[in-house]
Amino acid sequence: MIRIKLTTSLLSGVLIFAQSIAIAAEVNIYSARNEALIKPLLDRFTQQSGTQVNLVTGDADALLKRLEIEGDNSPADLLLTIDVARLQRAQESNLLQPVTSEILINVIPESYRDREGYWFGLSLRSRVIVYAKDRVNPEQLSSYEALAAPEWKGRICVRSSSHVYNQSLVASLIAHDGIEATEQWAKGLVGNFARTPQGGDRDQIKAVAVGQCDLALVNTYYLGGMLHSELDEEKQAADKVALFWPNQDDRGAHINISGAGITRSARNKTEAIKLLEFMTSDAAQVWYAEQNYEYPIRPGIAIGDTMKQWGEFVVDRLNLDQLGQYNAEAVRLMDRAGWK
Ligand code: FE
Repeated sequence: MIRIKLTTSLLSGVLIFAQSIAIAAEVNIYSARNEALIKPLLDRFTQQSGTQVNLVTGDADALLKRLEIEGDNSPADLLLTIDVARLQRAQESNLLQPVTSEILINVIPESYRDREGYWFGLSLRSRVIVYAKDRVNPEQLSSYEALAAPEWKGRICVRSSSHVYNQSLVASLIAHDGIEATEQWAKGLVGNFARTPQGGDRDQIKAVAVGQCDLALVNTYYLGGMLHSELDEEKQAADKVALFWPNQDDRGAHINISGAGITRSARNKTEAIKLLEFMTSDAAQVWYAEQNYEYPIRPGIAIGDTMKQWGEFVVDRLNLDQLGQYNAEAVRLMDRAGWK
């Protein structure tokens, strides 16, 4: 009897120990990607790995500020955000730490991750021209540069220069064309605006649809999202525009990433790296394309019909770290050009 009792209590001791290990496996994310988009993917990771994921979502710049204020006491292990310029800002502000992972190095092309392992791209998006199908012949279109031509006077809509998407696009133009030429271009573009910049990318598509402007600069996935929107208003607007890939005869269309980096304060580094590796797996990459119309970071992943219809395109091969390097210059340049 005594022996049995002992065994039982030993066994329950082992069970309690096992449970505490299960609870201890967790990873804390600060995410600028909205919860509806990212949560199902994280749930799948928890199911597969047993690692619990705690998610804090918020505005990208606010999350960077929060990491800065919390410093070494931050509970965050992983920063998930959009645009390489932001990832570099986090790196320069000493909020991230470099990590090594054979898997990440093997599956993510070199130009879409930091060489030292501070951040890794997880999906791709391009900033493209959308045009009113009934008023613009795509043969009139060619490059970002050509949008400064006088024929587009009063016909272009784009969001504010305070948004990082425009800053990164302008940074790419600086890298290719130089500061002087890009400033001339920006002045020409601003002179062609149909209205003072306002709203987000979806609002620019809607403005083209109702005839406020004929062209807009937007990220690809907004068009995908609107084409499949549950809101009739968005679907109808998206149906009135078409996508044009700029600079296909030369360097290719401007591209950017969503990505992530392990925080300097990370206490669950191993789990955070495992989660990053999961985000590059086939299932997760297909999910990015299906749910948010983003391009997989890895070649050879299936994409849905909408993205297939947009066709293959030439991608600007500029190393993405240049976008962060020219960010401050781009902001000053847009200001001088009067881009509100
Ligand atoms: Fe976006």
